[in-house]
Amino acid sequence: MNFRHSLVALVSWSFSLLPVTAQNPGTFHIDSQRLQGTLEKLSEFGRNPDGGVTRLGYSDTDLAAREYVTGLMKQAGLQVRVDPAGNIFALRPGSEKLPIILFGSHIDSVVHGGNFDGDVGSMGAIEVMRALHHASVTTRHPLEAVIWANEEGNHFGIGTMGSAIASGALGPEVLQIKDEQGLTYADWLRRYGQDPSRLTDARIPHGALAVYLELHIEQGPNLYESHTPIGVVQGIVGITRWDCTVTGFANHAGTTPMNRRKDALVAASKEVLAVREVVNAEQGRQVGTVGFVRVSPGAPNVIPGKVEFPVELRDLETAKVDRMWDHIRQKFAEIDRSENVQTQCKLTDRSEPAQADANLQAAIRESAKSLGLAATDLPSLAGHDAQEVARIAPMAMIFVPSKDGISHSPKEFTSWQDVANGTEVLYRTILLLDTRLDSK
Ligand SMILES: [Zn+2]
Repeated sequence: MNFRHSLVALVSWSFSLLPVTAQNPGTFHIDSQRLQGTLEKLSEFGRNPDGGVTRLGYSDTDLAAREYVTGLMKQAGLQVRVDPAGNIFALRPGSEKLPIILFGSHIDSVVHGGNFDGDVGSMGAIEVMRALHHASVTTRHPLEAVIWANEEGNHFGIGTMGSAIASGALGPEVLQIKDEQGLTYADWLRRYGQDPSRLTDARIPHGALAVYLELHIEQGPNLYESHTPIGVVQGIVGITRWDCTVTGFANHAGTTPMNRRKDALVAASKEVLAVREVVNAEQGRQVGTVGFVRVSPGAPNVIPGKVEFPVELRDLETAKVDRMWDHIRQKFAEIDRSENVQTQCKLTDRSEPAQADANLQAAIRESAKSLGLAATDLPSLAGHDAQEVARIAPMAMIFVPSKDGISHSPKEFTSWQDVANGTEVLYRTILLLDTRLDSK
């Protein structure tokens, strides 16, 4: 990208010299009450009696919510279209022939999810468009809001599905996948008014997008606990998973002396602790998890002969993940020797980390500063549509605090002030990039 300070940029950003604070909401361009109203209305689609929502991607509830959202887009004077994967795009033309500044998120949820994951970035994107519309702002770049389909992937078991199709990472091979009701993905696309045979038309060509921005709740405790209103995402971690099997010897739990045992569960227990030890030994925010253990034969009077468990490591740097895995393997080998068992692991899944663009991160930081809001850099430990779009365009994400770090739960909460702060930062970042990007 070609960033350059121009006179236009200086003039349009002169308000950044004013002593603006979050306590002075009069300086906001976005309308926080209107935004809260749309988020509250959206929360009615798929609302659960005990709080939160279940609004799976490609479901009747999702369809109804999408109708509400596209209505808002049309009211804001946007040109709405749905691509063959079901992603919704809402365009606001620019004054020059330039690539699109794209921003948005998703409105589908997990089973028993909350009202902020995805919703904040989606309704925030629409609020930015409404604010621009009401203020009759003209931008050089075309601006486009997007609602990605089936980000959570509870339906069909594929996360970031719509954005992965748009970025070319997924193709027609997914059309025949069946859900629990026996309906294929192609069936659901038809229900969404799409022609499955045109799925690859959803691909966004390289060069079509100037950038992609996504506002999202952090889903972790860092911003909330440090009382920092804005997070500047450095990137989205890669996730690597292995399946491990510990083979010991199943034998009588009464007659086998303690020193003659090959107890696969005792070994696996030490291995679970070893994973945590190795991950904790590194600097940084990397995480490592053993999500379950499966013990065989699984009887109170039999020494466990076999244990299976997965190991999952997440970090922004692939090299660090590889280094941690080497250490874990060494520890597993030592445990095998001391417990007289054999542990074998095989790689089952690997997603590469997606780095956020440095210039875009700087623009977000500047926008937060212009509002008098503190900002901190942090990685995203959860997956997002932005990691898919990163394949085809520079991307960045703005995080806002999640109360107590809770998400994927009806208890998920972000204060309306934090929602408004993030949306105003998005608004200002878009206008800042519009002046800076593609300048001659
Ligand atoms: Zn999300």
